[in-house]
Amino acid sequence: MTSIRSNLQQVNARIAAACARAGRAADSVQLLAVSKTMPLSSVQEALACGQTAFGENYVQEGVQKIEALRAWEAESGAASAARWHLIGPLQSNKTRVVAAHFDWVHSVDRLKIAERLAEQRPAELAPLQVCIQVNIDGGASKSGVAPGEVLALARALAALPRLTLRGLMTIPEPASGFAAQRAVHAQARALFEQVRDAGVGPRFDTLSMGMTADLEAAIDAGSTLVRVGTAIFGAR
Ligand SMILES: *Cc1c(COP(=O)(O)O)cnc(C)c1O
Repeated sequence: MTSIRSNLQQVNARIAAACARAGRAADSVQLLAVSKTMPLSSVQEALACGQTAFGENYVQEGVQKIEALRAWEAESGAASAARWHLIGPLQSNKTRVVAAHFDWVHSVDRLKIAERLAEQRPAELAPLQVCIQVNIDGGASKSGVAPGEVLALARALAALPRLTLRGLMTIPEPASGFAAQRAVHAQARALFEQVRDAGVGPRFDTLSMGMTADLEAAIDAGSTLVRVGTAIFGAR
């Protein structure tokens, strides 16, 4: 068995165990395989194991992989169910290429970016699925919207065409220990419910939080999508 195959099995088992412990259905958490810095062959290997959702941080690297996979599929007659999520920072001069290639963007943090994505999403593609990145703990990275600004941005995004507002994404500062990790994730969960209950659209159903080191705490706090790189593809 390849290591990617056995790693995927282990990560899926971690997700299932965390769901069971939290009293949640096993299919209530989606696994996003974060393939940044990994070669296309690793993505193809994970695809062959049934993993379909892939996350990339860097626009250019992601677009290259998306195009290379399509070219390989066209040549080999294979049609994969790969879905591509941008999880890294997005500058306004890159929105057009992102709107044309990705299925999801988790890292929307200002209206201008969302307006450009809406305008540039090709009409023949399904609406782009977007999450608002929240700086939930005021962390040093400073990426993401302050919690108090999320609802206003969500309302503005929900009104845009060609986008579907799906939820929130967080990248908290690393914390050690389940309780400390869970406490931050619980703040994100509370904010998620507050925005959802304010009525920002019927598909606001995604709370993207939890990575290799803290996916159990994230699931316990209500994550619906964990973004896992290292535990699947190895150290970068
Ligand atoms: C790299 C990255 C991940 C995956 O991190 P691991 O610790 O390797 O699981 C998840 N989310 C974001 C935004 C990342 O940049």
